[in-house]
Amino acid sequence: MGREGLGWTMALIPEGVIDEIQARADIAELIGRYVPLRRAGRHFKAVCPFHQERTPSFMVNTEKQIFHCFGCGVGGNIFSFLMQHDRLTFPEAVRQLADHVGVHVPESGGGASDGSQERLLALMEKICRYYERLLAAPQAASARAYLSKRGVSEQTRRTFRLGVAPTGWTGLITAAKATEVSADQLEGAGLAIRGKTGHYDRFRNRLIFPIMDVRGRVVGFGGRSLDRQDPKYLNSPETSLYSKGRHLFGLSQAKDAILAAKTAVVVEGYFDCVVLADGGVPQTVSPLGTALTIEQARLLKRYAEQVILAFDADAAGEQATLRGVDLLVDTGLHVRVAQLPQGMDPDECLRSYGRERFLQLLDHSVSIFDFLVETARRRFPGKGAEQHVRAAQFVLPTIAKVPNVMLRSEYVKLLAERFHLDEAAVAQELAKVQPRTLATAEPVAAQKPGAGTAAQGAERLLTGLVLDDPSRWQRVRDRLSLSEVTDPTLRRILTAVCELGDSTRHATPAQIVSRLAEEGYGSLVTELVTLSQSVVPQEEALEECVKRLQRNTRRREHAKLREQIRIAEEAGNEIEVQRLLTECQEQIKGG
Ligand SMILES: [Zn+2]
Repeated sequence: MGREGLGWTMALIPEGVIDEIQARADIAELIGRYVPLRRAGRHFKAVCPFHQERTPSFMVNTEKQIFHCFGCGVGGNIFSFLMQHDRLTFPEAVRQLADHVGVHVPESGGGASDGSQERLLALMEKICRYYERLLAAPQAASARAYLSKRGVSEQTRRTFRLGVAPTGWTGLITAAKATEVSADQLEGAGLAIRGKTGHYDRFRNRLIFPIMDVRGRVVGFGGRSLDRQDPKYLNSPETSLYSKGRHLFGLSQAKDAILAAKTAVVVEGYFDCVVLADGGVPQTVSPLGTALTIEQARLLKRYAEQVILAFDADAAGEQATLRGVDLLVDTGLHVRVAQLPQGMDPDECLRSYGRERFLQLLDHSVSIFDFLVETARRRFPGKGAEQHVRAAQFVLPTIAKVPNVMLRSEYVKLLAERFHLDEAAVAQELAKVQPRTLATAEPVAAQKPGAGTAAQGAERLLTGLVLDDPSRWQRVRDRLSLSEVTDPTLRRILTAVCELGDSTRHATPAQIVSRLAEEGYGSLVTELVTLSQSVVPQEEALEECVKRLQRNTRRREHAKLREQIRIAEEAGNEIEVQRLLTECQEQIKGG
């Protein structure tokens, strides 16, 4: 991962600042703004905002500053609540709460500690307003006429903050100078280009589409030529704010609609996006003239469960769909493909058929499986076994990316049927393409440590008890080392407890959630705390857990020794066998 992107530099928020925010904010006050809370003993209860329920099983623990839902298992602290409720990243949630409680968050990392990021954002905002004003001015009558001809209303023009760049070579530079913004600053923002005789504007006589981050802040611009200037579409170059492939055009306007519909419509162009929003399909975004990237797919995953690809119905559109599909499937999104009439783009389609017909087209979009099978049939026509095999091979890499095992095997069955192939053989071929996908698959976040065996149960309970009162770790650490906890996730959590606390100060569960939030362990932490609170008396339970873990360690060491003895015996190494046997007896005595 590079240091250039905004998301990365923002991840380095000092822990002291996070603690300060946590100390000032109150979880009941925060959650109470979203769902009505009812006092229930020492805690608060509510109807869970994360799953459908009638009887409240969502609990807010103000003493520990955490929440947990017994219905769906979601839990965390103030930051994780915002992350999940408003689909924010951890740094975004921290910043939002910082604003709320009045804590200053310094910009850090990536050389942006001097506030240059903020200044650049302010400059982009200023320029966006300038372009907007120009579009509203009398001279821009033809640009406005062009917009309405393409089906963009005044309202939508405002929502997307469309603008126009002046026709001359230095319109922006001159206007900026009057407000003390230099050409060098504009160059830094990607809006001026240094030529032989001085700077000139990057965008000239172009319709301007501001590119915004999820919070609606302008990070770059896209421009469509209004004369015959090439290229027809031009984007801002990469800056410390804008990086190609990390933003989706229209997302800041579309995110609420996407959340509500659980579905995002992905189109190719700016115009498709704006026209669809105007025509009553507000959940539309565009990947900004590039093929979808994994960052964009993950960004969509924050808001959507399903994605409908509505690319142009031509060869290029088909290519774009094929490129996007694997990435989206890989992130676990359900992908469907809208089948537009041949040769049409979504914008034309909506304008010629109207909203109802267009929504029907989206409704009847085909599953990614059907789309691939159709494409494969067209590419490998003919009835021979050889063509069928090639067609199936074409579909397999995408099926291999489907994270759900049951769905994957269902697809194998269907694929075998469609191309008259042997199901077992198709499954075997699928196994061959498998390794490629494993390397790129999403890391399995918050893999639940199996509650299966008693040993695992003891580890879970021990972790929960330590989370509930971190001073407990100091009482047991002389008898138990972290390496004796076999589950890597639980070990990770306990490590965070040790790292965050010292002899004078202990970490709180809320702080631990913050530390682990980005790794996706928030719910597990609150689940474990809740588990620990269900056992009484806690101190005896802790003692029992420690003993059980110690017994397990001895058992493992014993098994290891026996294995070494077996190997030494097979190798005929008598001396080694004797040595190991002695060690084994020592061990038994010691235990
Ligand atoms: Zn719930």
